[in-house]
Amino acid sequence: MNVLVVNCGSSSLKYQLIDMKGEVVLAKGLVERIGIEGSILTQKVEGREKYIIKQPMANHKEAIKLVLGALVDSTNGVIKDMSEISAVGHRVVHGGEKYSNSVLIDDEVMKALDECSKLAPLHNPPNITGINACKELMPTTPMVAVFDTAFHQTIPEYAYIYPLPYELYTEHGIRKYGFHGTSHRYVASKVAELMNDDLKNLKVITCHLGNGASIAAIKDGKSIETSMGFTPLEGIAMGTRSGSIDPAIVTFLMKELNYSIDEVNDVINKKSGVYGISGVSSDFRDIEDAAWKEDNKRAELALDVFHYKVKKFIGSYAAVMNGVDCVVFTAGLGENSPETREAICEGLDYLGIKLDKEKNKVRGKAVEISVEGSKVKVFVIPTDEELMIARDVKELVK
Ligand code: AMP
Repeated sequence: MNVLVVNCGSSSLKYQLIDMKGEVVLAKGLVERIGIEGSILTQKVEGREKYIIKQPMANHKEAIKLVLGALVDSTNGVIKDMSEISAVGHRVVHGGEKYSNSVLIDDEVMKALDECSKLAPLHNPPNITGINACKELMPTTPMVAVFDTAFHQTIPEYAYIYPLPYELYTEHGIRKYGFHGTSHRYVASKVAELMNDDLKNLKVITCHLGNGASIAAIKDGKSIETSMGFTPLEGIAMGTRSGSIDPAIVTFLMKELNYSIDEVNDVINKKSGVYGISGVSSDFRDIEDAAWKEDNKRAELALDVFHYKVKKFIGSYAAVMNGVDCVVFTAGLGENSPETREAICEGLDYLGIKLDKEKNKVRGKAVEISVEGSKVKVFVIPTDEELMIARDVKELVK
């Protein structure tokens, strides 16, 4: 069974074709600049040269047509024809309160996704466009929606309700939803496998540290708390996002400094985080270089702020779970930066976290990095949201 996993952004589209027998990635690709001059598709197949198509793509339907063409291409493709794609899994950012699991897409689901668009105006519309384009090109192929929010639907009411007038929740859906759910769910299931235990018996803290970053507390196999909230802006400082700040800063910017709504949005989403503090870059590699090789104090401060925020969440999540058995680092930074992991874990020995400096040198491999006998085990686990999506598709289509 081959599953096509599609992740549509506003002008980009990532895809993977996965053979579920052995969970092998047959091809993966990226389409960029959809609807913009310079559209380009890059497809990678293990052991082959990259296959690149540069041609105008006015919309997502044209992009998906090209993706399907690249997959069945007689020289560069990996399947003979489209009948070899059994089902399609779509990453959808927001499933609201309605979806706590992945679902087979039908008209009712499409309507619900549309309703969720007001909660994720930047993300859900391109996801919906991608689903519609696939439905048009593959009308008989089953489609599944896998939501970034679904895994966190188990968070208890006292943790997801904001201390605001209750009607803002009941009438407008203002509550914590949480994101990166597919990634947290994947690494949590993987860590249980590595610990030879059932996830239901473990208290796990998963740290998804990439350009966007979030932390989750997982107990009894369920997400019970996470750092992102009503939107993916809440929580720890990120590449360009502020994370949690005093909400009065927003009204101060608007009242005292005459910022418009768009300007405030731009500042807290695109000009803050480690980029805002350092003034160097949103890429942690650039900031680490500036801090450690060029002695740039603001870059150093940006890293200190980031590590401090993550540490605070780990401590508070140990508190809400009444303990912790393991901590997992994942995503671009979590998987690849030993220095970040060391800085975060430093001073957490009171919790029983003891990092092994040698083992911690690892990059991008699923391994334990705590010392033998560490009460709390620490792991690096590369995330694989596409595989998780494909597994859900297989389960639902079966
Ligand atoms: P992601 O959003 O998961 O793709 O992660 C992207 C982030 O991971 C970027 O900010 C990168 O700076 C960071 N990253 C990737 N590789 C490394 C590395 N080798 N060292 C430090 N940071 C890295």
